[in-house]
Formats: sequence, structure tokens, C-alpha cells
Amino acid sequence: MIKTTEHTRCLIIGSGPAGFTAAIYAGRANLSPVLFEGMQPGGQLTTTSDIENFPGYPEGINGSDMMEDLRKQSIKFGCDVRWGVATSSDLSAAPYRVIIDEEKEITCDTLIIATGATAKYLGLQDELKYAGQGVSACATCDGFFYRKKKVAVVGGGDTACEEASYLAGLASHVYLIVRKSFLRASKIMQERVLTTPNITVLFEHEALGLFGENGVEGAHLVKRRGQTDEEKLDIVIDGFFLAIGHKPNSDIFANYLDLDETGYILIESGTPKTKIPGVFAAGDVADPHYRQAITAAGSGCMAALEAERYLSANKL
Ligand code: NDP
Repeated sequence: MIKTTEHTRCLIIGSGPAGFTAAIYAGRANLSPVLFEGMQPGGQLTTTSDIENFPGYPEGINGSDMMEDLRKQSIKFGCDVRWGVATSSDLSAAPYRVIIDEEKEITCDTLIIATGATAKYLGLQDELKYAGQGVSACATCDGFFYRKKKVAVVGGGDTACEEASYLAGLASHVYLIVRKSFLRASKIMQERVLTTPNITVLFEHEALGLFGENGVEGAHLVKRRGQTDEEKLDIVIDGFFLAIGHKPNSDIFANYLDLDETGYILIESGTPKTKIPGVFAAGDVADPHYRQAITAAGSGCMAALEAERYLSANKL
């Protein structure tokens, strides 16, 4: 039930580096942007530890601190930053409509979608059974609870390696469960994981389930699933961390925009333009390839510049 309605020239959905960078540029261009922070204010970087590869921070910077700075910078330049989750949209005609928290209607001349992506789970029944009782998709959020305990991380990418390294500093032992015979992570992260004494990389292993009376006490694994030498084994762990990638948060726009098979919003190559004029996508929701804070920030900047051009070209 819609209780309020209002109009803005530039609506930004999402508060990661893409959303806030768009907000800074749109604010400085006098577009009076309104930004809704979404389910996870600050986005994925608030669940990471130190960011070491964002240019300008030779000592690294804490993810939450960086997002708080970006938020302040957005507000300083006139962005109206608000709590609220976009729950549906109607992009069939301009002005575009986005419903916030199922009750506030915002109409807008330009829309910047910077809704990011959400952690994926394996789809095991036990992930639900032990949710909050040993299963997590965020080591930096929950690692603290596993000091001097044994944990497993699933995945072979940069996130998995980063989480395994982080957890190795807290837990007594970390198993990294990798379904292939190699890690997909960058060389530096691979080296870090392979040379940390309390990390054991279990190549060609998959998790089949979890067990435990009061929370997770172990995991059932299979090695070389489907091969003639397939082997089943159990490991004793207190925590089970997922780091197997992310799903783009594009569902509420799916009826109007073109998405790829994973759900990433398709944009015109080299631009943040979607197939709808005045609707732009920036950051991880439209980026299956790079997914970095710096690339998200760059695309947020591009989206705001395009929004400004669209508004002035259409005298809005
Ligand atoms: P990736 O998609 O790179 O890796 C996902 C990993 O999970 C892969 O090893 C994949 O296995 C595995 N996986 C996926 N599904 C399953 C499943 N069902 N069962 C078992 N394993 C599964 O995701 P990341 O989140 O690691 O990274 C995303 C992007 O962000 C990358 O571009 C990465 O470089 C970047 N990143 C950069 C960081 C940095 O620079 N500091 C930090 C973190 C991420 P398989 O290889 O077999 O497909």
C-alpha cells in the first residue's frame, strides 16, 4: 500500500562505492540526488577487512571506514542519503517509478541502479538448518566467534582466499574446500593461502552436508566426486563459511532490463547505459568481470555524468 509519493531528478539505489560515487558526482552537478542505502548500508565492503588495492591508501583502509567516508562525502555535496530498500519498480515509461519498503513511491527522471550483489550459498539443506549456528557467508563479520576453533571456507577465488587468510589469524585451523584441482584466485592470494601453516587446502573436494547436535560440529565431504576413486570423508569444524561468489541484486528490474544468465544487468559496452534511456547501472550489479571497489566507483562516476547529460539534453 503506497503511503507517500515524491519526485526526484536523480534517484540512486545502493550504497556501495558505485552508489556513493554516483552520489558525489550527481551532488556536485546540482542534480539534488536521493540515494536509498538498501539492505546492507555501505555494501559488500563493510563485510571485508582491510582494502589494500584502492589507490591512494598505501597502508590499506578498513572497508567500513571507507564507506563511512564516502557517505559523508555524498552528503557534503548535497545528496539526500536515506534508509530504505527498493522493493519494486516500474520502468515502463518515464518518469520511472521505484517503490521503497513497499510503501513509498519515488518517481525519477534518471535512475542509477547500484544495488550490488549478494553472497551465494551451495543450496544445501544444512546451510539453512545451521544458519546463525555455524554457517556464515562473511568471515570478517563472524570470524570473531571462531577464535581458536576449526573452520572451513568453501571456494577457490579471491574472496575464499581472503576469508581463509583472515580466519587463519583467529581460528586454530582453516580448511579451504576447493572443488577444482587449482585455485582461481590471484597469484598473491594463492601464495598467501598456500604458505599459511594453519590452512589446509582440500583440492577437488565438495561439501555434501553438515552435522552437529548444537550447531555445526563437522562437514561431510566428497573427494573427486563422480570419479572411480571417489572418496567420502568427514572433517571436524565449528564454522562453515561460504565464499563461492555472488548473485547480482537485479530481480526488481528484471521485467524491464536485459540481464545475462546470472542476472547481471546488460549495459552498452563501455558505458553505464541500460536499454532504457535515463536508466543506468553501475558497480557489481552490472559487472560480471572486474567487481572491484575501484571499478565500481568508476562506473558510478560514469553513471552520474550520463544522468547529468540525459537531464540537460531532455531539459529535465
Ligand atoms: P569468484 O567467482 O572469483 O570465485 C568463486 C569460487 O567459488 C570459485 O573458486 C568457484 O569454483 C567456487 N564455486 C562457485 N560455486 C561453487 C559451488 N557450487 N561449489 C563449490 N565451489 C563453488 O568469486 P569471488 O567472490 O572470489 O571473487 C569475485 C571477484 O571479486 C573476482 O573478480 C575477484 O578477483 C574479486 N575480488 C577481489 C579481491 C581483491 O582484489 N582484494 C577480494 C575478493 C574478490 P570454480 O573455480 O570451480 O568455478
